[in-house]
Amino acid sequence: MKEHHRKRILVTGGAGFLGSHLCERLVAQGHDVLCVDNFYTGTKDNIAHLLDCANFELMRHDVTFPLYVEVDEIYNLACPASPIHYQHDPVQTTKTSVHGAINMLGLAKRVKARIFQASTSEVYGDARVHPQKEDYWGHVNPLGPRACYDEGKRCAETLFMDYRRQHGLSIKIARIFNTYGPRMHPSDGRVISNFMMQALAGKPVTIYGDGSQTRSFCYVDDMIDAFIRLMNSPEEVTGPMNLGNPHELSMLAIARKIIESTGSSSEVMFEPLPMDDPCHRQPDITFAQNTLGWQPATGLDDGLKRTGDYFRRLTQAAAARAKLPSMA
Ligand code: NAD
Ligand code: UDP
Ligand code: UDP
Repeated sequence: MKEHHRKRILVTGGAGFLGSHLCERLVAQGHDVLCVDNFYTGTKDNIAHLLDCANFELMRHDVTFPLYVEVDEIYNLACPASPIHYQHDPVQTTKTSVHGAINMLGLAKRVKARIFQASTSEVYGDARVHPQKEDYWGHVNPLGPRACYDEGKRCAETLFMDYRRQHGLSIKIARIFNTYGPRMHPSDGRVISNFMMQALAGKPVTIYGDGSQTRSFCYVDDMIDAFIRLMNSPEEVTGPMNLGNPHELSMLAIARKIIESTGSSSEVMFEPLPMDDPCHRQPDITFAQNTLGWQPATGLDDGLKRTGDYFRRLTQAAAARAKLPSMA
């Protein structure tokens, strides 16, 4: 890469699912990548293959504390994303979204860096408008168990808009819809990882509620493509912008697909629906299509196959480790 195209890029939450794919892509493009993570949900395994690259650097740091580095761009992804992870320590989740955003915005202001925020479709809550467009203000329970995440992310969006209005920062807000693929945490409780692990083990696939609730799943490679396009879009494009795959499915349908794609003989089993679980979710991506010339390219069958291969390798490696003789 020519020196003047090469940027110093900070990725917070870079050892997580999406962050590790983003670091990988930016390193491959020849940028200098600084991955910052406190390993709350992310792992060193996710970025182990990058550690030998001269243009990759890893720093253990919690974004709720100030960070003084010199960079040209910041992707702010640090935050647990799955309900069981973000509800484990809800106060820390809000701190990560709000204090983390303030610190990263303060950093961006000092070094005049462009900054990208990984926001979420959860800002729409249990939406009363379907599909969701960016101008919908949402329907979030501010007191329930999901609020630490939803309201934290909503407040982060407010901070991003105010740092732009007040300090002229260059900002990009992505509202990310459910994304899946290799390096999802196998026990994060999210629907794709749960169903995959259960199907591969031949255990019952746990459907919460009657399985009629819907989500729209985007394959990780498509999502990373959109992140980079949004970051590189013209200055006046700030978002918020919906990023996701509009292909909407019920949880019952996704369970059947995963059982089929893994060749499993698992049955489905019904469990209670968690509180405030949104009924339907589907992005309207017209804004992203028109502005970034982007739309998802990976079909569900292909994406599920690649994800299944990853989880299969993971379970085989764990089984092989379990067979090793004890060192004691
Ligand atoms: P993830 O849990 O795999 O990754 C989050 C990363 O942030 C982890 O590596 C974790 O250790 C790190 N982290 C958490 N708190 C931190 C802190 N205080 N300081 C430093 N690092 C911290 O989740 P993901 O799926 O990769 O999500 C990445 C981002 O995208 C999150 O901000 C999430 O809210 C957003 N998002 C993801 C999805 C999705 O479907 N994956 C959907 C909407 C939004
Ligand atoms: N900050 C940081 N790195 C920097 C600059 C600022 O982490 O390089 C943090 C610092 O904790 C500060 C916050 O960002 O409190 C917000 O910065 P800002 O300049 O907006 O406000 P102030 O410094 O007045 O609090
Ligand atoms: N879900 C399910 N079984 C599981 C895990 C999740 O039926 O084992 C449901 C969950 O209730 C929700 C949907 O799948 O309706 C998506 O859940 P996930 O946690 O993946 O994402 P989110 O609710 O944050 O969109």
